[in-house]
Amino acid sequence: TTKQLVMSEKLAAIGEITAGVAHEINNPIAVMQGNLEVIRDLMGPNAESARTEFKLIDEQMNRISQMVTKLLRFAKPQEYAGYTEQYVAANIITDTLPLVQHLLRKKTILVEREDRASRPIMMNRTELQQVLVNLIVNAIHAMPQGGRLTLRTFDSDFDQRKGVAIEVTDTGAGMTFEVMQKVFDPFFTTKSREGTGLGLSISQMLTTRQGGNIAVESELGKGTTFTVWLPEAS
Ligand code: ADP
Repeated sequence: TTKQLVMSEKLAAIGEITAGVAHEINNPIAVMQGNLEVIRDLMGPNAESARTEFKLIDEQMNRISQMVTKLLRFAKPQEYAGYTEQYVAANIITDTLPLVQHLLRKKTILVEREDRASRPIMMNRTELQQVLVNLIVNAIHAMPQGGRLTLRTFDSDFDQRKGVAIEVTDTGAGMTFEVMQKVFDPFFTTKSREGTGLGLSISQMLTTRQGGNIAVESELGKGTTFTVWLPEAS
């Protein structure tokens, strides 16, 4: 649709800007780190007296540079989209759960799994993991009092194509129809501080780019289900 097209263009533009800014930040940092090294050499034995300070500056510059790299990876995933491989959906869930285990434990969330999918799917592993992490983290946010997280996979057809559905269901806050209509919009968030509003729009971009689909169903006060559909590997 036109709306989706406008959104993916907007996301692409955000990616471009972020990549540009990241470049503009990381290059000067590299120059500063290089020159710090030069100064230390020029100071010879005197540099010892400022050892702690040198180390501190170097560490902080590394920190900025790593943060920028992370931001770049998040805003412009296509830069990092490696090869695509074929696998069974249940495996990717098994591999993804450890990434969010600490959050699940902290909030006493019961995890239930139902692995029924038998068809192999094809999608970049890291990207599908990123999508699932986004969905699971949102589900956890929606259950501050704890609850049940259900992860289901099953063979499913969409638009008369064979594929696999991966469902992420929570027993959390749910959302209104108005919120549900906007969840995939870039920068739409109802979270005051920690929210970026990018998780779902990026997840949608990653999924549709693989010929897949992402959908939401929700009931206020009851919970939410996000369904990621991916075509069967040919
Ligand atoms: P963020 O999590 O940074 O707000 P997202 O794009 O991931 O960005 O989500 C957008 C919004 O969609 C959230 O702020 C929240 O209002 C809503 N949302 C997403 N997942 C859920 C969920 N499982 N339950 C209730 N609301 C959700």
